[in-house]
Amino acid sequence: MRRFVVQQHAARTLHFDFRLELGGVLVSWAVPKGPSLAPKVRRLAVHVEDHALEHADFEGILPDSEPGRGAVVIWDRGTWTPEGDGAAGLAAGKLTFTLVGEKLRGRWHLVRTEPQGKQESWLLFKGRDEFADDAGDVVTDRPASVVSGRTIAELLASRLG
Ligand code: MN
Repeated sequence: MRRFVVQQHAARTLHFDFRLELGGVLVSWAVPKGPSLAPKVRRLAVHVEDHALEHADFEGILPDSEPGRGAVVIWDRGTWTPEGDGAAGLAAGKLTFTLVGEKLRGRWHLVRTEPQGKQESWLLFKGRDEFADDAGDVVTDRPASVVSGRTIAELLASRLG
C-alpha cells in the first residue's frame, strides 16, 4: 500500500503539504489553501522537493535550523492508488488517483499547468463521486490533526506556554 499524508504547516506562510509515496520518497506539493471536496474548486499546488518517507509521521515543532521550519500537524493520512502508472503520470503532469484517508476519500486529480518561474504549478481537485461535497469547507470544518486531535493553533500555543 502506498501512503499519502497531508501536513498543515505553519512556516513563513500557513499552507498544506500534500505528499504521495512514490518511488521510495514522498512526492510533495505545497497547497496554500488546502484541498477542497468541491470538484469545481481547483487549488493551486506548487510542486516542491521530495521528502523522506519518515517525514510522513512527523507532527510537532521543527527546529529553526531546518528548512521549512515551523509547526506541523498531520491533517490527514491514509493510502492512495494511482490510476495507471503513478511515475508516468507524474512525469506527464497528470495524476488521477484514489485516496482512502479520514478526511479525503475517493477520486482526485493533480494536473500540471504551465511552469511559472522555477517552480511547477499544478492544480489539485476532487473528482465527482460520492465523496464530493460542494457545500462545506473541509479545511475549516475539520481543522484538527488526525493523530493528536490538536489544531495547529493549539500546537503553536503549547510551544509558547
Ligand atoms: Mn511546507
